[in-house]
Amino acid sequence: MTIPTMKSGARKATPRQAPATNKPHDVLIVGAGFAGLGAALRLQQEGVGDLVILERADDVGGTWRDNSYPGAACDIPSNLYSFSFAPNPDWSRSFAGSREILDYVHHLADHYNLRQLVRFGRDVSHLRYDDKTGLWTAVTQTGETFQARSVVMAQGPLSNASFPDIPGLDEFKGHKIHSARWDHDYDFNRKRVAVIGTGASGVQIVPELVKKVDKLTVFQRTPGWVMPRPDFATPQWNKLLFRRVPKAQESVRRALYLAHESMALGIIWNSPLTGLLERVSEAHLNHQVKDAWMRRQLKPDFRIGCKRVLMSSDYYPALQRDNCRLITWPIARLCENGIRTAEGIEHQFDCIVFATGFDVSNNGTPFKVTGSKGRDLDTDWKRGAQAYKSINVAGYPNLFITFGPNSGPGHNSALVYMESQIEYLVKAVKMMTSEGIKSLDVRKDVQRRHNHDIQKRLAKTNWNSGCKSWYLTEDGFNATMFPGFASQYARQMEGFDPGDYRVVRVAGRPQ
Ligand code: NAP
Repeated sequence: MTIPTMKSGARKATPRQAPATNKPHDVLIVGAGFAGLGAALRLQQEGVGDLVILERADDVGGTWRDNSYPGAACDIPSNLYSFSFAPNPDWSRSFAGSREILDYVHHLADHYNLRQLVRFGRDVSHLRYDDKTGLWTAVTQTGETFQARSVVMAQGPLSNASFPDIPGLDEFKGHKIHSARWDHDYDFNRKRVAVIGTGASGVQIVPELVKKVDKLTVFQRTPGWVMPRPDFATPQWNKLLFRRVPKAQESVRRALYLAHESMALGIIWNSPLTGLLERVSEAHLNHQVKDAWMRRQLKPDFRIGCKRVLMSSDYYPALQRDNCRLITWPIARLCENGIRTAEGIEHQFDCIVFATGFDVSNNGTPFKVTGSKGRDLDTDWKRGAQAYKSINVAGYPNLFITFGPNSGPGHNSALVYMESQIEYLVKAVKMMTSEGIKSLDVRKDVQRRHNHDIQKRLAKTNWNSGCKSWYLTEDGFNATMFPGFASQYARQMEGFDPGDYRVVRVAGRPQ
């Protein structure tokens, strides 16, 4: 169903809250971003009405609420980076900016009346399972509790901004801003600004910031592979066509999906396409950067796909502006007035922007999770997070994780994966409510077999080919990415087999 026209900025100023109740809910969802709201919407559509969403912030939107830095946009085309069950014919550009994506999320929340399910300002600090009752209790930072039969952890893998472990971080007396917690009140005019980090966020920030500041210095530790981004404004006729002929938009989405799927052959695995992609990226570098020394500084020394491929047509030109400088010396420390690099030079700044990524829970949990018989998920995941089909973990009945272990895409839209996860958990929850199931716990042997296969397949991928990235733990374990096509992931999630689970019905009869 096409959602009616979105009006930019038409956001609810004061979010309505779900009323407090002591009765256990059917489903409790942690996080009101794309995944949490999408799960709530589909659960409601399937008749599971008793839901509550706990959101730590005071508004919906998740990563698109938090990442509002200048230049923030999605590097996946908007027609693919949206729910297939709620297409938006009005995307203003092929790659919409974060503001417009957030408008889309707000529109979903309003159009489907989802805000009434959300309890804002509820930061979950502990999830606890009770074997006797088969219920989960969520405890918030303020000590409030909520109970539910099932829990969906939809807080997102990239929700905790991470400052790097650089000596002297607190010594710097100037202004510090993290890309995911942008300070919109800071006036960059006539300032000397540093950007640390040249990943997906950094390459979007630099071209915008360089226009505002007096001097911009970019600190690069590892140059990434950059591909041109074919971003253009959507012509009016195109919007009209999508509105009048939804099938046309469906076809475009399908074509984009297949084009991205084909990229898996070069990005996930080392194939002739990998070499071709590297040559395209190198040609982009050679075309945009005239200075040979700078080209050398910007040339990656790892296989394309190993780290996230960067999409930008304005990053290299921004680096070459007169007021911009690229520094590739390692950072030794932060000092009172700026940054000292390894060769002993101190660079002075008014402000340092940290585009240094997120604290990713590859081998831990974002908050304490206590499962069956008192087991602790953080301890279970100490040597690397593992789950069954990325969504369930043995010993944690009725717990569903969106973007759990090994569900990450490197080549296609995260929302495609997210929809599969949502449909899977909807099937499970529907079965639980209709058949009076007290607990649904994935079998350990099934989970072990699944992970054995995943890790075997990962060993042959570009992600595990030797570079350092947030996809891997310190000791090189890949608990993040799914080693296959999005269509393979979707197929894996299509089949919900109760035989993979230990099922206990309300009457207490084990299956
Ligand atoms: P990131 O990919 O983890 O990049 C962090 C950057 O900071 C890297 O360049 C890293 O260098 C650098 N860095 C970290 N610690 C450092 C230190 N101590 N000294 C110097 N440099 C340091 O983080 P991100 O750019 O925020 O992106 C994270 C993820 O968010 C992406 O992979 C993507 O999934 C998502 N994202 C998506 C979009 C989108 O358009 N869809 C946009 C932004 C982000 P090294 O490479 O050497 O580690």
